[in-house]
Amino acid sequence: MHMRGNETVKTTCSYCGVGCGIIVTKDPQGKVEVKGDPDHEVNKGMLCSKGMNLHYVANDHSDRILYPEMRWSKMHPTQRVSWDDALRRASAVFSSMIKKYGPDSVGFYISGQCLTEEYYIANKLTKGFLATNNIDTNSRLCMSSTVVGYKNTFGEDAVPLSYKDIELADCFLLAGANPAWCHPILFRRIEKHKEKHPEVKIIVVDPRKTDTANFADLHLQLIPGTDIVLYNAIGRRLLERGLIDYEFIKNHTDNYQKYREQILSISLKQAAKICGVSEKDIKKAADIIGLSERYISMWAMGLNQSVIGTDKNVALINLSLITGQVGKPGAGPFSLTGQPNAMGGREVGGMASLLAVHKDLNNPVHRKEVADFWGVNKISSKPGFSATEMFDALEKGTLKAIWIIGTNPLVSMPNSRRVEKALSNAKFVVVQDISHKSDTTKFADLLLPAAAWLEKEGTMTNSERRISYLPKVLQEPGEARADVEILCDFANYMGFRGFNYQSSEEIYREYCQMTKNTNIDISGLSYFRLKNQGSMQWPIPTPTHPGTARLFEDRKFFTPNQKAKFNVPYSVNNASIGTSVQYPLILTTGRIRDQWHTMTKTGKVARLKTHYPYPRIEINPVDAYIHHISHGDICEVKSKNGTIRLKAKVTDAVREGVIFAPMHWGKILQSDLGRANNLTNTIVDPQSKEPDFKFTAVSISRY
Ligand code: SF4
Repeated sequence: MHMRGNETVKTTCSYCGVGCGIIVTKDPQGKVEVKGDPDHEVNKGMLCSKGMNLHYVANDHSDRILYPEMRWSKMHPTQRVSWDDALRRASAVFSSMIKKYGPDSVGFYISGQCLTEEYYIANKLTKGFLATNNIDTNSRLCMSSTVVGYKNTFGEDAVPLSYKDIELADCFLLAGANPAWCHPILFRRIEKHKEKHPEVKIIVVDPRKTDTANFADLHLQLIPGTDIVLYNAIGRRLLERGLIDYEFIKNHTDNYQKYREQILSISLKQAAKICGVSEKDIKKAADIIGLSERYISMWAMGLNQSVIGTDKNVALINLSLITGQVGKPGAGPFSLTGQPNAMGGREVGGMASLLAVHKDLNNPVHRKEVADFWGVNKISSKPGFSATEMFDALEKGTLKAIWIIGTNPLVSMPNSRRVEKALSNAKFVVVQDISHKSDTTKFADLLLPAAAWLEKEGTMTNSERRISYLPKVLQEPGEARADVEILCDFANYMGFRGFNYQSSEEIYREYCQMTKNTNIDISGLSYFRLKNQGSMQWPIPTPTHPGTARLFEDRKFFTPNQKAKFNVPYSVNNASIGTSVQYPLILTTGRIRDQWHTMTKTGKVARLKTHYPYPRIEINPVDAYIHHISHGDICEVKSKNGTIRLKAKVTDAVREGVIFAPMHWGKILQSDLGRANNLTNTIVDPQSKEPDFKFTAVSISRY
């Protein structure tokens, strides 16, 4: 018998937006091992706990959806069907809904874990051919406030710098982020840099004393939602001490006077009181930033997931503008993407408010350009439903059919019990996923088995605009298929032209052509280059272009007058209702070190459960005393939306007045009382439509 040897390929981690390079070794039986790629620009061989256990997830098929399943009515269980029957039914239902209720009666809810080619096809299919803009993604829950913040400031959704700037910076402000747990390899690079250069200063802004905060030189443990007041106060101190870059402000920015007036409108003393931090610490933070040569700000969900998320973003970015710390080595505002391909999804327009290649849905010229490129009559000018709006519309019955790909809204969306109602009320639910562990599969009228990481090829873009190629290494189990194949087949069943692609590469080539002469031009980056030269950062406009590590080095921004704009927000988040006698505490939710999203993948790995084995409520000792709660007690937390019951962890890692619950757990043994999103609000930032997971007024009592 001929025995083949091991096969080794390079790919990219499928979890967070850091985008670490991985070497996969496949043995002749098809089992894989993984290790960090020592030659990879991003991680230089390192992997975090999630990445280094990816082989367990890839090798274990026990939870996989192996063949299409369908039910003829909500009263019946699903039954195995052929792909032909499955897609014929999907196209029949979608066609009849569109005929009866119009194109806006159907929609897609997809994922920041989709590959760029999948995102592109789903977007083309929905906006170009189904003639509705009802396609949104779980990236709405993650980065949409940053998208608007960057656009409002730089004229484009564009991260200006690279990870390599980390080793050049001498000051970091990490706001609303815990990279020590959630972007560990990136944080390891910051740690190493500080170990080598102890003079490097780290400021953390967070209501929680996280591992990241414990590493900082200065921790500003602010009251949730007061971020804008804090950044404006830091701006005021910088101005008063003359630690600002007048030349940069004068020549390269707009709207400075309004910003100046605003930051001077409130004293440091007042700001300190509002934010719950000392005036001394505000001054210290400003002085560290102002006296540094190269300053980087980094942020994640603590800023984005807020009703004032966009404003929090621009208030923080303003500190880079006032100090001229953008477009130069070791400097700039750096959003930390949660998901592996949230940025790639934005590039191809995979959200209800975007068009492909960062074109604007509100712009008739852009709509025509996209329609012409796809050979369709027009793109609808009506904005599609954003993520939360989609589930509102299902509940109300205006959206009839939804197709959910690679995401588990039953656990990840705010106000989970309302999502349950919405999906129960939907006329037709398609769930395309890899795992039966996703709670959302229980609501599927049609369940489609998708290929997982290593079982399909395509590209992703990480937090620093770096595009990577992911090869197909493994055969899909059962009848699972690559997401693009499923979507293209569906389009063909619907009778649409333009979906007869022979490969993912052909889809990628079409998208690259679309980017030509735009700010995100990657027409010079082929699969061939990606396979042979490795990952690269956009823009890459010619076949010999080396990629762009840093934007705006010429101090020319993507706005019409090429100047960056100071936006002037001034608000404090009280999430519409604020705390009250009935709900006196602020709940903030977040991630833990070894789990990913709703645990459909990381939850399969025993060793990833040891660090934080069950969900719990973290509460400050003062609040625990007031509410008669001891460490280990089961406590009941209530908001106006729902209830959870969890064990209490009494810790000063959360500030007084705040409790924390991890967001990963769904139903445990049929009980949903460990699901943090039972409590959270569905109110959203009016600009970005991102929901607020960081401020829910709650009560707590011992159960
Ligand atoms: Fe994967 Fe992110 Fe960990 Fe890197 S830091 S190994 S990309 S989860």
